[in-house]
Amino acid sequence: MTVPFREATIDLDAIADNVRHFRRLTGVEVLVVVKANAYGHGAAATAVAALSAGATRLGVAEIPEALELRRQGVHAPVVAWLHAPGERFLEAAAEGVEVGISSYDQLQAAAAAASADRPVAVHLKLETGLSRNGIAPDDWGTVLAEAARLERIGRLRIVGLFSHLSNASPADDRAALARFEEGVAQAAALGVRPEIRHIAATAAAIDLPETRLDAVRIGIGTYGLSPFDDRSSAELGLRPAMTLRGAVAAVRRVPAGTGVSYDYVHRTDRETTLALVPLGYADGVPRSASGRLPVSIGGRRYTNVGRIAMDQFVVDVGDAPVGVGDEVTLFGDPTLGVPSATDWAEVAGTIGYEIVTRIGHRVPRRTT
Ligand SMILES: *Cc1c(COP(=O)(O)O)cnc(C)c1O
Repeated sequence: MTVPFREATIDLDAIADNVRHFRRLTGVEVLVVVKANAYGHGAAATAVAALSAGATRLGVAEIPEALELRRQGVHAPVVAWLHAPGERFLEAAAEGVEVGISSYDQLQAAAAAASADRPVAVHLKLETGLSRNGIAPDDWGTVLAEAARLERIGRLRIVGLFSHLSNASPADDRAALARFEEGVAQAAALGVRPEIRHIAATAAAIDLPETRLDAVRIGIGTYGLSPFDDRSSAELGLRPAMTLRGAVAAVRRVPAGTGVSYDYVHRTDRETTLALVPLGYADGVPRSASGRLPVSIGGRRYTNVGRIAMDQFVVDVGDAPVGVGDEVTLFGDPTLGVPSATDWAEVAGTIGYEIVTRIGHRVPRRTT
């Protein structure tokens, strides 16, 4: 069997297992976050797997992402919460996309997009300390009262009341939750009774049970990566869904003192074999990890040498019998002995989220 030149395999069973894990752990509705092409895993395939495992709603950042899911035949409830200035929500309304509302203007635009027989479904987002979007506390009274009025006249359906946490510390998250609860009480007093309240993403859903409320929004956990620096996927009961592989494109036997890749930041210290891996920063291999990137070839771990280039990087395999066409596992499930996306993140100075999300378009995705 020939090894694919470059490939990201997506284990949909792992995605389904991870969703079931959060269903069991939290006991509440699981909204699976599939923004940014499901953190690089493929939005439609992830959505289908997650829904089959008991997720009941999807979340994306922006409306075009939700519309793309509809085009791919995904008709489950989906909410989008980050909007272009002046967004009018007409396509969202036509496609039954639920809209996150962060301002009075967005509320009016959503109501204006309703048709006579179909209100627009909204989730009102309260700013509770993250300092991103969300209705500012000073505006809660005005916006909530107007939302209640627009629901009474049949233009809106208030599905959700939500916010997002900073993960700065448990104390910060509890303070944000307390502010959110004040917002919920204020909303109730003004006649806003959402079907669901949701504030927790993966980290809080795991560590702060009091934040689970009616639903949790699970992004990174769906993909089997840990949101924490100090706990692995396996310790959380999660399985990484993405494995990144390539085929050795060339091997070269070289003497000691041979310069490798741009700028010769590495020279061989002995006669050795260099293997060329055909993925580079265009494919999401972080250049900042040059000289530190772990990979696995033939069941052994190596670290790349020299600069990671746009399309390729080099691994010094010593005297190991590595040949052209051999499989290279760049990252995957570390319980199988290969590097993890988190290992990559450590050497690149980032987080696993960024590693999987930035795998480039040139890498075909194959679901298994
Ligand atoms: C991205 C995002 C999430 C998911 O966060 P994870 O840490 O990946 O679980 C949840 N809610 C909002 C508003 C987001 O933007």
